[in-house]
Amino acid sequence: MRQRTTFDPALPASPPRRRPRGWLMMATAALLLSACGGDDDDDHHGHKPPPPQPVAGCELNGTTGGEVIVLPGEPGAPEVATGYAPKRTVYAKTYMAVTNNPVSTKVACDILKDGGTAVDAAVAAQMVLNLVEPQSSGIGGGAFIMHYDAQTKKVIAYDGRETAPSGADENYLRWKSSTDQTPPLPNAVRSGRSIGTPGTLRVLELAHRDYGKKTWKELFSPAIKLATDGFAIPPRMAASISSATTVQNIKRDPEMAAYFLNPDGTPRAVNTILKNPALAQTFTAVAEGGADAFYKDGPIARAIVDKIRTTYDGGTTPGVTTLDDLANYQAKKREPVCTTYRQYEICGMPPPSSGGIAVGQILGILENFDMASHAPTSMDQNGGKPSVTGVHLVGEAGNLAYADRNQYVADTDFVPLPGGSPDTMLNKSYLAQRAGMISLTAAMPRPVPAGNFGGAPMGAPIIAERGTTHLSLVDKYGNVVAMTTTIESGLGSYHMTGGFLLNNELTDFSAEPVDANGAQIANRVQPLKRPRSSMSPTLVFERKGDGSRGDFKMTTGSPGGATIIQYVAKTLVGVLDWKMDAQQAVSMIDFGSNNATMIVGGEHPNVDTSTPQGGLPGDNDPLVKGLRNLGHTVSVGNQSSGLSAIVRETIGGAPALVGGADPRREGVVLGDTFRP
Ligand code: GLU
Repeated sequence: MRQRTTFDPALPASPPRRRPRGWLMMATAALLLSACGGDDDDDHHGHKPPPPQPVAGCELNGTTGGEVIVLPGEPGAPEVATGYAPKRTVYAKTYMAVTNNPVSTKVACDILKDGGTAVDAAVAAQMVLNLVEPQSSGIGGGAFIMHYDAQTKKVIAYDGRETAPSGADENYLRWKSSTDQTPPLPNAVRSGRSIGTPGTLRVLELAHRDYGKKTWKELFSPAIKLATDGFAIPPRMAASISSATTVQNIKRDPEMAAYFLNPDGTPRAVNTILKNPALAQTFTAVAEGGADAFYKDGPIARAIVDKIRTTYDGGTTPGVTTLDDLANYQAKKREPVCTTYRQYEICGMPPPSSGGIAVGQILGILENFDMASHAPTSMDQNGGKPSVTGVHLVGEAGNLAYADRNQYVADTDFVPLPGGSPDTMLNKSYLAQRAGMISLTAAMPRPVPAGNFGGAPMGAPIIAERGTTHLSLVDKYGNVVAMTTTIESGLGSYHMTGGFLLNNELTDFSAEPVDANGAQIANRVQPLKRPRSSMSPTLVFERKGDGSRGDFKMTTGSPGGATIIQYVAKTLVGVLDWKMDAQQAVSMIDFGSNNATMIVGGEHPNVDTSTPQGGLPGDNDPLVKGLRNLGHTVSVGNQSSGLSAIVRETIGGAPALVGGADPRREGVVLGDTFRP
């Protein structure tokens, strides 16, 4: 018989509670009833929003905006990797938090409710995520934060990307040494070679110094309490440690094994109460001593260096990170990549992420087409059915943008962009010329070439990336944080110390320093360089008549490795061109193209992945078939985006925040909500 596995995020210190089905149904009924009131004011999404009726903020009643959360892993819900549990749009008056886990959303929301800033909420939520989503992010990894200051209207891009150690050479990821030119063991990801000097705590500290209202110390309290009292293992975390191969890999590291596995070596199951005293201790030291307690010579730094240099049983190639590498790590404030898209201004993350430039290029190319006339049809809460032409155009724009990104973008502290700034790649006439390569009746032959900006060619392969999480936060003062945070692959490098996992971010570098033609690869390993990222935390603003920055309009971002760029572009087009609400745009079928394959996410209820006789999976789906008829190679594999979006709208004559969390993950939206 299948065991019932309800995820209860209520931070129990006692054995897991089982919510009877009736409880869920009653909660749903009550919420649906309360959602029925309202006047006849129709908004442009077909909803009926009455004047805001505030309800107490931050309540996690097993609901998200009036719908019972059916989490992946619960009976009747799909599997984690293939999950899609429809979610309802959430409306709030002044503050809102969206993360990919209910517990971290709740902690962030409580801080916002209590007058904390978006940065305060990000610090507290990140520490909680280190517990409830350890496979995706934590203090052993890196992060990018896009911050909007509502008072000055200033945007800052905070770079907390990991760095290569000072002792790394360009063959660091592919050879054990210059005399032993064999690959690191057991492979690059799970060796010490993949581990970059972490940046998450330094970048949060930097942003907090600029924009924190609460003390650094108090922001660690919720996570310290959770780590000490215990928390119920969420379904995604349980799923991420459940496969036989993962368990084998976990067993290499005794600290990981003790944390993630039962004494008999089986993986800990969903809802098991887990405590993390080692992380409670680490957090306490950092809460009291600041990030220095982590980075400066001391017990935490020494344990990190020892761990990176471990060989375990002799079968693991160590990394060369030193105490000085940690002590010298610096988070950086960078100029955001801002460009215009129709009546909006879009600001994204500059290098070392390729996200801001690639998303900006996709939109800049699409600006040459009347996207509004290619909107999805049969609009529903899941984003309707995208049109063949709409998806074709977004896909082709993606093909062109990925070609440039792959060739030219790396850490600009080491390798300059063409023209010395993002402006050359985002130049409107250049993008119009790229748009001219697109036909409405046939797909371009792939791979499409990168633009020619002169100078030496810099080949670069596409690198597979996975893992990661994203937070979208708006505080009462109107400040906004879009933060994408990562340890790279699920469970990072499989090295654990101090209760947290160390990243494998350096595998975002190209392991090969030169391409097949002998051209140097922009994203090759160099000492102290930051690996190129695809993370795309994004802020959107209205533009005033004179072209200057107007009100905040929207924020979004996602995990998903190189595919992040496609997830984010799709969501932006959904809201800005197709006038979908935040949840509809996030929920909409994940589609796009990376200069190789067009994706149409098969986990989505509006995609028919069945295979007709003699055909391919998806051939029965009009969108997939239509794209194939144009010449696209289409994959209907399941997508695992973790999008969130907050959109500022006017509802019932008053400004409101409209939020959406990805149905493909277990996140929720909370805030000072009201039900239109
Ligand atoms: N390491 C990836 C990047 O920085 C993110 C990984 C992911 O999103 O899964 O682009």
